[in-house]
Amino acid sequence: MGSIARLKRGEKLLIATHNAGKLAEFRELFTPLGLVLISAADLHLDEPDETGTTFVDNARIKAHTAANASGMIALADDSGLSVDALDGEPGVYTADWAQTPHGRDYQMAMKRVEDRLQAIGANSPGLRKGSFNATLCLAHPDGRDDIYVGQATGTMVWPPRGDKGFGFDPIFMPDGFDITFGEMPSSAKHSWAPGQVGLSHRAKAFAKFVEGAIELS
Ligand code: IMP
Repeated sequence: MGSIARLKRGEKLLIATHNAGKLAEFRELFTPLGLVLISAADLHLDEPDETGTTFVDNARIKAHTAANASGMIALADDSGLSVDALDGEPGVYTADWAQTPHGRDYQMAMKRVEDRLQAIGANSPGLRKGSFNATLCLAHPDGRDDIYVGQATGTMVWPPRGDKGFGFDPIFMPDGFDITFGEMPSSAKHSWAPGQVGLSHRAKAFAKFVEGAIELS
């Protein structure tokens, strides 16, 4: 359904994520824009089941569930790591690869990726290419929504490097760099400011979101 009116400085926006790493990145990205961010945790919203089979489906589920529950315009992110030699896995199921009975374990999940790469003999950098993908959905309680996507390409490294960022950042070395996302300060991982394109998948999707949905003053 049709486009949402542009958001202005001082307006409230619900960030429909329960992922602390994503929320921290959004707070930084939004800083120059002057919107008032409310998190799903602030409103004690439930986390919906991600039953879709694409990033767009799941971003829509999260954004519309939060917009309906709160009556606010909501922004959701569905994202993941796609490894070329693994036919795009884990992809939409990236978070599931980290799931254990006791919560998410990303050391284990990164090892799972590495074990799969080792199993097919993917030892040289050229066989270890992949991408991080982010799909943002901005949803209005009346059902309208807009979608923005971003991709960062890179190489899977082993062992994991760096303690910054979150999730799979320590095994992802973006193209054109010799350090992983886990070794970069978040400002470098984003490399975004108004009018710029950004480096990470989330920052690139965010740049498009700002162009399409924000009234810059
Ligand atoms: P979902 O979007 O809630 O389905 O989860 C996305 C999954 O991809 C999580 O397991 C994240 O850790 C991972 N992921 C998404 N973006 C990033 C990122 O920027 N760095 C590291 N891992 C990420």
